[in-house]
Amino acid sequence: MALQDNIKLIIEEKNRIAKEVGRDTDEILLCAVTKTRTPEEINEAINCGITDICENKVQEILEKYDLIIPVRWHMVGHLQTNKVKYIIDKVALIHSVDSVRLAEEIDKRAAQLNITMDILIQVNPAMDEAKFGITIDETEAMLKWILNNCENIRIRGLMCIAPFAENPEDVSQYFREVKALYDEYSKIQHKNLDFKYISMGMSHDYKVAIKEGSTMIRIGTAIFGERNYNKQN
Ligand SMILES: *Cc1c(COP(=O)(O)O)cnc(C)c1O
Repeated sequence: MALQDNIKLIIEEKNRIAKEVGRDTDEILLCAVTKTRTPEEINEAINCGITDICENKVQEILEKYDLIIPVRWHMVGHLQTNKVKYIIDKVALIHSVDSVRLAEEIDKRAAQLNITMDILIQVNPAMDEAKFGITIDETEAMLKWILNNCENIRIRGLMCIAPFAENPEDVSQYFREVKALYDEYSKIQHKNLDFKYISMGMSHDYKVAIKEGSTMIRIGTAIFGERNYNKQN
């Protein structure tokens, strides 16, 4: 199927499920995950209406940045502190903040540029060993630490990657836990906290994520097809 058809199908599904659960589909942003994709493929997706693209490696952002039609870029992968400086002026949102050290570095670099950096805290509700992110129990302390120490960071919400499940309904409990945290913290009054995004849901589980309250779905395979990592190397 062509990219255009894939994107159309996802938008139709998003509309359908939002309606089914009584949500406004416009509050759910479709982000294209463009890792391993060529600039040509990415630009084609943008020409089909994609406004937000996600990468998980600093290197790929740097290689593609000048070749892509201007859109909002998102960093969704594990970010090493020594690489923050390369992307701080390129991405609109860093989804993967999972340590105080990383937050400190983002704050420092943002201050140097005199900007405020929007971030999400990455939570790992399944305590999945293979994934990054902090536990549900650690989240409040990190959030408060960032609010108390990082002038140049604005916390916009939470992100999670659910473990893979044959039946995506099986991970709905994790999405529900993240949504509950989100609702709790969104009540905090602080100038550097402005909750808007719950980034959860990928190709195989975005429908469940929308049902559970996601406002940002990150879709790669369902837009572009299976990734071929070898092609890159
Ligand atoms: C690759 C990736 C996605 C998209 O995964 P698909 O299954 O291809 O939709 C979403 N989020 C993150 C953090 C990723 O690394």
